[in-house]
Amino acid sequence: MTYSIEKITTLIGAHRYGENESDVAFILTDSRSLCFPEETLFFALQSDRNDGHKYIPELYRRGVRNFVVAHVPADWAERYPEADFLEVADTLTALQRLAERHRDEFDIPVVGITGSNGKTMVKEWLYQLLSPERFVTRSPRSYNSQIGVPLSVWLMDAHTQVGIFEAGISKPGEMEALRKMIRPTIAVLTNLGAAHQENFGSMEDKCREKLVLFRDARTVVYNADDALVSRVVREANLPGEPIAWSRQDANAAFYVSNVEKRAAMSVVSYIYKGVAGSYSLPFIDEASLTNSIICAAVALQLGLDRETLHRRMGELEPVAMRLEVKEGQHGCTLINDSYNSDINSLDIALDFMNRRPDHQGRRRTLILSDIYQSGEAPEALYKEVSDLALKRGVEKFIGIGPQLCAQAKEIQVSEKFFFHTVEQFIHSEVFRSLHDEVILLKGARKFGFDQLTELLVNKVHETILEVNLNNMVKNLNHYRSFLKPTTKLVCMIKADAYGAGSVEIAKTLQDHRVDYLAVAVADEGVTLRRNGITANIMIMNPEMTAFKTMFDYDLEPEVYSFRLLEALIKAAEKEGITDYPVHVKLDTGMHRLGFDPVADMEQLIDRLKHQNAIIPRSVFSHFVGSDSDGFDDFSARQFALFEAGSSRLQAAFDHKILRHMDNSAGIEHFPERQMDMCRLGLGLYGVDPCTNAILHNVSTLKTTILQLRRVPAGDTVGYSRKGRIEHDSVIAAIPIGYADGLNRRLGNRRCYCLVNGQKAPYVGNICMDVAMIDVTGIDCREGDSVEIFGDHLPVTVLSDVLETIPYEVLTGVSTRVKRVYFQD
Ligand SMILES: *Cc1c(COP(=O)(O)O)cnc(C)c1O
Repeated sequence: MTYSIEKITTLIGAHRYGENESDVAFILTDSRSLCFPEETLFFALQSDRNDGHKYIPELYRRGVRNFVVAHVPADWAERYPEADFLEVADTLTALQRLAERHRDEFDIPVVGITGSNGKTMVKEWLYQLLSPERFVTRSPRSYNSQIGVPLSVWLMDAHTQVGIFEAGISKPGEMEALRKMIRPTIAVLTNLGAAHQENFGSMEDKCREKLVLFRDARTVVYNADDALVSRVVREANLPGEPIAWSRQDANAAFYVSNVEKRAAMSVVSYIYKGVAGSYSLPFIDEASLTNSIICAAVALQLGLDRETLHRRMGELEPVAMRLEVKEGQHGCTLINDSYNSDINSLDIALDFMNRRPDHQGRRRTLILSDIYQSGEAPEALYKEVSDLALKRGVEKFIGIGPQLCAQAKEIQVSEKFFFHTVEQFIHSEVFRSLHDEVILLKGARKFGFDQLTELLVNKVHETILEVNLNNMVKNLNHYRSFLKPTTKLVCMIKADAYGAGSVEIAKTLQDHRVDYLAVAVADEGVTLRRNGITANIMIMNPEMTAFKTMFDYDLEPEVYSFRLLEALIKAAEKEGITDYPVHVKLDTGMHRLGFDPVADMEQLIDRLKHQNAIIPRSVFSHFVGSDSDGFDDFSARQFALFEAGSSRLQAAFDHKILRHMDNSAGIEHFPERQMDMCRLGLGLYGVDPCTNAILHNVSTLKTTILQLRRVPAGDTVGYSRKGRIEHDSVIAAIPIGYADGLNRRLGNRRCYCLVNGQKAPYVGNICMDVAMIDVTGIDCREGDSVEIFGDHLPVTVLSDVLETIPYEVLTGVSTRVKRVYFQD
């Protein structure tokens, strides 16, 4: 489905500059995701942090011709002769308006889903239940925001028979815009939880806001067992037919009369509109159960016959939300995306791969299974796959499944291979010869991609550090929200990004356009450069022996003493380098490193003025206690000293020297001292240094139970017979020890880990590679997962026991523990 630019001008009420006729099929809001320039309409969105108008020159150069803008560039006719600019008062509103008008084209059932949890799962399961015969258009992944919803709604096309869209809000007033775009015929509230409560007066206020989605829906689906939700729905006097589900009220439209949990499945009996039925579900957890009930109610409402519903419920697959990045064998990196296979999620995964830089030479390979998407002819579908793969830089294509084999000619990637099954691929020469590639694995579970991934990843020691990149970005945005749009940001990724792994963290930060990355030593910077990081990099502890390396790799050193300054100037002069950027550190009270902001300034300025090998790019100092009110007077003195010293330096030069002092705690505690730039460290990794609370948890250290044994009262566990067993106990051995970073002082019941959500104390001395934990009374098996710290057990619990700071625990996780990265 395409729209002429003339039609779009009318639909969004724009003033048009330019008269080039063209048709638009794609909408773009993020310039980095450009794929098909000729048919793309770019919306120059503006936020506090960024302005899409900045990217117009680059996008024009890359072939984009249609732009929705808030202000037309000066002399547009000369600079962009082939372009059309549609000028509107507000570009986000225009994007939403276009989605609304697009929605008007469809007189089909549309399901709108809101709620604090479960939106994506319900959406994906509904898709699994309906898609075998109906062409469903749904939000890709969790595109449910003010920008994500219009992009999702835009995906509906002539084939679409059912739309399923998520609506996510975080503030009052947001739902109305989403409702107007989705205009659900069936509106669903999955549940009401605590998320985003800080922005709402009460739970009731939040509930009312979410229920704005219900306003004109023909059917509204909600949980009758939640008294608050029920009451608010009643009071809202909605015109739609209420389909309340309940496990208590036999009069509810969808009454769940019984739930029977067996070993690995549940059987749900229900009465829907007076008729009894039952289905089995291959899950037993409560969340899955609730989500299945919602899906059943909606699917029946959409006219799916019961027999089909019951059968497909039994075949539901788990919804993998994550894109994982793992080290593979033979120099490969694996990006594993087992999220339902369809063209939109394929595009998102390809975009992710394409945006992550890689060092020279590694090919980008796509391993893809057949895509089931009813309603589209396979030729057209796989031609589209091929176009996407080519545009997103795929150099090698491996197709698995009968459909792909049949459509092999549609795939235009030069190096391509096809196999009917994963088995055949695994036994082929193509599989054996995979090496030094970045591999995106995108395949449906039923093709056995799990098995494939297992073979391709490095055999890991069962202990891993899971790093949640989404949450890191949330933390980044949290701290950015304290900053003025013009304030720059340095992200501290020293000590291997506080243990999280600097390369992948740097790739994500670079993609989010942070201004500087900072590492401790030159080698850390070299590693980043070798992995394709092009962002500015600062070296905080430059070694005198590494100046040449820094010049070669464009790494900008900190200078903190005259000795270092002289050596650096000499080294730069020897290489014939001029104006090499450096960062001057002043000591305002830490008394660690730095020039004296009073006594040294004259000599420092004089020396810098009488050479041209290096120039000061920034000047900075570090607070001693920005995390605590108790040091506010001292901090003020530090700041005054810094202001005076840095002003003298600036006054001596014509070019702008960036001034910075705030670290994570400083950003929060004294945002008024943000100056030109801030340095974000611990906060990025999810620990609020002021309160020790966890913002969005980034790192989770996990392991598995190796062995379980019963130990009778009176026996001991571990070295030196330290672990005395008082009562008959069950003891589990886990493959993590002090050599992995599990501090020995946590042993002897001073701390605990979590096994299936329950606390299991460390028993006896922690060994080098293994520890023993007490799991008496905990339902667990060998192979079960154990959380050392992370999502459910804050790292600060460990650091408190150890009487240290979370920094030490995070950076102590040894490099032999594999890092696994994921993002939704
Ligand atoms: C590590 C470091 C930071 C970051 O500190 P956090 O407390 O982790 O935010 C800032 N500045 C300098 C000079 C640092 O060494």
